[in-house]
Amino acid sequence: MVKAVVGANWGDEGKGKITDTLAERADIIVRFQGGANAGHTIVNDYGKFALHTLPSGVFYSHTTSVIGNGVALNIPVLIEEIRSITDRGVPAPRVLVSDRAQIVMPYHILFDQYEEERLGGKSFGSTKSGIAPFYSDKYAKIGFQVSELFHEEVLQEKAVRVAEMKNVLLEHLYHKPAIDAGELLDTLHGYRDMIAPYVCDVAAFLDEALKENKTVLLEGQLGTLKDPDHGIYPMVTSSSTLAAYGAIGAGLPPYEIKEIITVCKAYSSAVGAGAFVSEIFGEEADELRRRGGDGGEYGATTGRPRRMGWFDCVASRYGCRLQGTTDVAFTVLDVLGYLDEIPVCVGYEIDGQVTTDFPVTARLEKARPVLETLPGWKCEIRDIKSFEELPENCRRYVEFIEEKIGYPITMISNGPGRNHIIYRESPLKR
Ligand code: GDP
Repeated sequence: MVKAVVGANWGDEGKGKITDTLAERADIIVRFQGGANAGHTIVNDYGKFALHTLPSGVFYSHTTSVIGNGVALNIPVLIEEIRSITDRGVPAPRVLVSDRAQIVMPYHILFDQYEEERLGGKSFGSTKSGIAPFYSDKYAKIGFQVSELFHEEVLQEKAVRVAEMKNVLLEHLYHKPAIDAGELLDTLHGYRDMIAPYVCDVAAFLDEALKENKTVLLEGQLGTLKDPDHGIYPMVTSSSTLAAYGAIGAGLPPYEIKEIITVCKAYSSAVGAGAFVSEIFGEEADELRRRGGDGGEYGATTGRPRRMGWFDCVASRYGCRLQGTTDVAFTVLDVLGYLDEIPVCVGYEIDGQVTTDFPVTARLEKARPVLETLPGWKCEIRDIKSFEELPENCRRYVEFIEEKIGYPITMISNGPGRNHIIYRESPLKR
């Protein structure tokens, strides 16, 4: 049985916490896309951790953590991350890395920086982790696959070819130092030695696991609106953030994905540039940012302050639809307890017309939020364990949003810890 945990919006919805919670009853957790450019924050008995590459189930001793072929694998970052958690007393995790995953190279990170420099103010708000240059090379067929590290002739030939191509850009476009093919080869040999203990035919491993009725969790990074096809192109990431891609990025049949748990946060946040219709500013935004998440809404990888906004029903309904949502996990609801009234974006006004359909980017840029205001509940809800015990206005907020997005909210997260979770029967669940 395969379940996917994915984001409905711009990322940072709290997928890490939901995956960590569901991992208690899972055997294998797979990262299937993205790289070390975003992070999950997880709070558990060992402390508070920011993970960038490892899946969130890594803290349980019964789980296997898998880096699928769809991931942008930064080998030194992965090794350092394993070390950083074992240093803090977490038992050594069982980690498998797909032999078909491709490797983020030091020059990918440099190209990211050089391109941002070149674009100046017109940049896409990259986290400069090399993700866009990495995926460009993967599809241009000049990437390094993990399996190639173990075939010296392939490696040598490709190191020369790649250095030659990259050096044209380095010299003529960016005016930066050239790559030396010999040094590149040395780096690859170092990577080979670091990654060797973890390499595995992941697709075959998952095939066996499914035959043995194991539970597999696919853990997504970012959310629908950052998908290169269905998101706010070009302000998107470079790999698909959709559950459907989980089949490809992990290497398993699409029909095995039985549950798609789409994570929605009770308000909005976004990082990087791009249209953000329900965005708020000034003191109103500062207060939500300060109180948000667990210790404020700042990027887990970059520390950048996140842009803040009210819950956006238009974007979230679209986000849930493209994911193929079977269940919504509604997170960080506790944070809204300070507000007298809570605005919710229920429509977009574009060129004088109101729509509830999420538009293409050029039209999205023109959209103005149509807000409806709901009464707040003005109290702490973290200790509450059942939906019925939540304050009436809090229940109404959940029910209102469920009705607007049209997908069943069956999990509510009311705090950062594993036990801050309320399961709910939804009238929308068939
Ligand atoms: P992800 O990338 O989707 O996993 O999201 P992040 O890790 O960037 O953001 C989630 C943040 O909110 C983390 O700091 C979590 O510890 C925290 N968090 C998750 N769920 C809840 C919740 O229900 N309430 C509160 N207060 N914090 C939460």
